[in-house]
Amino acid sequence: MTDPKPVAAAPRTPRFVRNGNRVTWLCAACGEPVRARTGYLTLDQRVAWVRERAWVEYKRQCILDNPSNELRVRAVSEMPSEKVARWDAWHRNCDPRPDSADYWFAVERADTVGKLLHWTAHLAEKEWVGHSDWFTLMLTIGTDA
Ligand SMILES: [Zn+2]
Repeated sequence: MTDPKPVAAAPRTPRFVRNGNRVTWLCAACGEPVRARTGYLTLDQRVAWVRERAWVEYKRQCILDNPSNELRVRAVSEMPSEKVARWDAWHRNCDPRPDSADYWFAVERADTVGKLLHWTAHLAEKEWVGHSDWFTLMLTIGTDA
């Protein structure tokens, strides 16, 4: 028996730099810091909604496939298919879809760990946020904060 080959993580452009409680967002297009009043954090809400709908269907199917009525729904992270909506920061002038109806807020409203705690509580009220990578992103930002 051979060990499976390690799967290399896809290279990702860092999305932020944290220095103490200060968080500087980096533009998804050019990689440069997004300063106050020059850009925003955003995600394509349609992607989150598609995944949310798939999740509801997945749970329904898990229940229907189980005649003993024992709930065996797996964690949302184990749901097959449907990509997670990704949060990115953009300079207004770099955003390839500046006129989209994406969910967004200005970077200066999310440039400290405390402000991100506020956003996390605010976004947690929205059902679709679990179908984005917000919580994963916050876990990364919050490491050793
Ligand atoms: Zn940029």
